[in-house]
Amino acid sequence: MDLNYSFEQAQYREGVQRFVARVLTPLVNDKYDFSRALTREEIARLRADIAGHEIATEPPLDENGNLDLICLGIFMEELARLRIGLVSLATALFFPVWDLGGLLKDGQVDSYGHMFAPGEMVAMGMSEPNAGSHIAGVQTTARRDGDEWVLNGSKLWTSHATIAAGIIVLARNLETGRVSLFIVDRKRRDYHVEPVKMMGFDSISTCAVSFDDFRLPSDAELTPDKGGLRTALSFIEQGRLRLMFMAVGVAQAALDLAVDYAKVRTQFGKPIGAFQLVQDMLADMAIHTETARLMAYRVASQMMTGEPCRKTVSIGKAYTTESAVKVASLGVQVHGAIGLTTECAAERLLRDARMLTIPDGTTQIHKLTIGRELTGLDALQ
Ligand SMILES: Cc1cc2nc3c(=O)[nH]c(=O)nc-3n(C[C@H](O)[C@H](O)[C@H](O)COP(=O)(O)OP(=O)(O)OC[C@H]3O[C@@H](n4cnc5c(N)ncnc54)[C@H](O)[C@@H]3O)c2cc1C
Repeated sequence: MDLNYSFEQAQYREGVQRFVARVLTPLVNDKYDFSRALTREEIARLRADIAGHEIATEPPLDENGNLDLICLGIFMEELARLRIGLVSLATALFFPVWDLGGLLKDGQVDSYGHMFAPGEMVAMGMSEPNAGSHIAGVQTTARRDGDEWVLNGSKLWTSHATIAAGIIVLARNLETGRVSLFIVDRKRRDYHVEPVKMMGFDSISTCAVSFDDFRLPSDAELTPDKGGLRTALSFIEQGRLRLMFMAVGVAQAALDLAVDYAKVRTQFGKPIGAFQLVQDMLADMAIHTETARLMAYRVASQMMTGEPCRKTVSIGKAYTTESAVKVASLGVQVHGAIGLTTECAAERLLRDARMLTIPDGTTQIHKLTIGRELTGLDALQ
């Protein structure tokens, strides 16, 4: 077992760090306003600004041509240190992070392939006002009417619905009674969308979307056979890995900021970093950040083997995201009152970290998954 990065992985990290420092940081800090949701036009301009940089446009692949999840993790972690929204928008800004387009069958590629073109993103509409953790309880319905589907229902917390090319919607197929995935192409017909003001993730929109007798073409069902729910859950599983690397990046950013501040802020005639209790906070931050990082790369490595990894994913998602909250909160504490002001990045990092323990399975749901894997007893049945 080798827990060190390979030479290539270390080089890749250095390349990403250079790109973030030289290219992305000035764009994020000076050219674009990341304090509110970016628009489609801004995303397209930002994409054009970074187009000449190979590291930002070429996905890291393994020897079999699949996404190398360790390098992808490095990429996401380094971006999250700058702004978490860059990771959330990665498919639109850089390269396809998840293969949602792989859901399209032959005939559907002609109709919907444009939604997965470079620079586009497709949102995932699963959660609803009355179906959050219990995703199988979705109440949105798809009814067949002649050559069309008629969609009715509301989705909530749909990330990126304002800027997306469309949404993959989880709905109950009233013909089969099964939960299935349907693709909504915004170019054919736009949906009603309202951004919801959230605590963190300032640069992306989290939305309420409603479908009222919303007509879709006959080929809009992506999972006509069984498996709609399983497919949805497999995308949620990939999303969990992304959240783990966001958590590690946010924690590292909070730690870096706190260390820098502890060296320059003086009280009682000394830098505060010289006090043992401040070092205790910094050490706790470092312990949580480093263990979260190990956990995230362990999950990525296991996912790449194709082995079942439900328990590891749940341990990783729960641990890394809760750690990010702890680290970012200590980061504010190290700063004192200035850490609570909107001028200080520590405040933003805490707000962003706090967003991570809820999506793609809350910490409690992951604990129940771990408990089930350990005991064979399912608390959710
Ligand atoms: C930033 C962000 C982005 C998101 N993006 C998307 C997206 O793009 N697409 C999408 O479909 N959804 C998205 N979501 C929704 C997210 O997946 C849900 O918020 C999540 O599944 C939890 O559902 P809920 O918020 O309704 O909470 P609930 O399920 O109502 O849970 C409320 C509380 O009860 C606890 N709880 C629930 N059931 C149990 C149980 N059986 N045992 C113990 N405790 C329990 C939970 O842990 C939580 O503490 C996003 C959410 C956030 C915060």
